[in-house]
Amino acid sequence: METMIPLEEARRIVIGHVGRTAVEMRPVWGAVGLPLAADAPTDIDLSPFANSAMDGYAVRSADLAGAGGDAPVVLDVVGHEAAGSVFDGEVGPGCTVRIMTGAPLPAGADAVVKYEDVRVLSGDGNEGSRVSFAAPAPAGDNVREAGLEARAGEAVMRAGEVVSPAGAGLLASAGYTEVPVHAAPKVGVLSIGTELVAPGEVPARGQIRDANSSLILASALAAGAEPRFLGIVPDDEGAIRRAVLEAAASCDFLITSGGASAGDYDYVTELVRREGEVLFDRISLRPGKAITFGVVRGVPFLGLSGNPAAAAVGFEMLARPALRSMRGHVELDRPVSRARVAHDVPKGQQRRFYDRARIERGADGELSVHEASSQNSALLGTLQRANCLLVVPEGLKGYAAGDEVDCVRIDLPEGSVL
Ligand code: AMP
Ligand code: MG
Repeated sequence: METMIPLEEARRIVIGHVGRTAVEMRPVWGAVGLPLAADAPTDIDLSPFANSAMDGYAVRSADLAGAGGDAPVVLDVVGHEAAGSVFDGEVGPGCTVRIMTGAPLPAGADAVVKYEDVRVLSGDGNEGSRVSFAAPAPAGDNVREAGLEARAGEAVMRAGEVVSPAGAGLLASAGYTEVPVHAAPKVGVLSIGTELVAPGEVPARGQIRDANSSLILASALAAGAEPRFLGIVPDDEGAIRRAVLEAAASCDFLITSGGASAGDYDYVTELVRREGEVLFDRISLRPGKAITFGVVRGVPFLGLSGNPAAAAVGFEMLARPALRSMRGHVELDRPVSRARVAHDVPKGQQRRFYDRARIERGADGELSVHEASSQNSALLGTLQRANCLLVVPEGLKGYAAGDEVDCVRIDLPEGSVL
């Protein structure tokens, strides 16, 4: 007797049986897209000193308090500073220092007036020149304070936070050349079926090319894992057993396709039962009812259906969140759009459907969704051209044109806000 469990429960079981992978160091820029494995405190104030936000003149704001169009204030230029240089003196009353963007604000000065607002009365604008100001400059004007971004010891990013390109720059400012991340899980991929030949071969009568290994290797790569193709295995109990046990010795997660339902030559579920533990073997999911999940020699094992679209949906719903969790991602759910279905979607079964579909924004600004004309689980072109999976919950007799439906956005990263 078969027991079908809801998809949410299956997902919880799979995610609950994977751990985080070991921590490794990555160059900060190479960690883009990955969650940090630890908080990242900065060793210095960011920025380390107050500096100018403009090319101009560093002034004492009190000197310019009375400046106006018909009563300009004239100051003596006593020095100059480029980014990277330091003016050692102090800006006294009646004095100013010519300063470039990023140069430290000299002692005594508390504001910067940009070039365009300063008139040079005599000299070339450097030491010995006299310059005039026609307006006051409030204290702090055009000055970037020390510690504006963060104070020494403060975390600039937290564990679990995903590094963006901006984050890589921030981590570099905080002194990091490398940061700790969870290693890519090694995912072993096996295709099971006597009818299968490698993609480079021309199938003889009764044979087909192995599409699933490419599909699953690509899906694993896209999920941030390190996929390893372990070959095609015929529907032979001994051969499958040998291949699975060998794979378990060198991988963090195993995925097979084919041979996992209840046909005469389907050995996968029994093998997992004998060599390890089966946690479920039927899910309320279409496509992809016959999915086996268990643990073999301590390694999580996912046996997907051989039907390519079913294998793809099974991976998306179960393997992808688990592999992301192994890398430390906390956002595991794809965003879901609500959209009006453009046509009737009749259903007559108790299972949960994830139909291949395309969501689009119409000229009226509303989202509408069209299903692929065939939901046959042998077809992959329909999934290649889909950007979402339209959900029909258990027990519903389907939808009528115009109904609002949930669409899982397989085209958008987890955690996206729609
Ligand atoms: P199974 O899950 O073994 O019952 O296979 C279901 C269907 O998927 C059959 O039509 C198989 O020929 C097909 N199939 C199994 N494995 C693959 C594969 N790696 N690539 C393409 N089709 C496959
Ligand atoms: Mg088969």
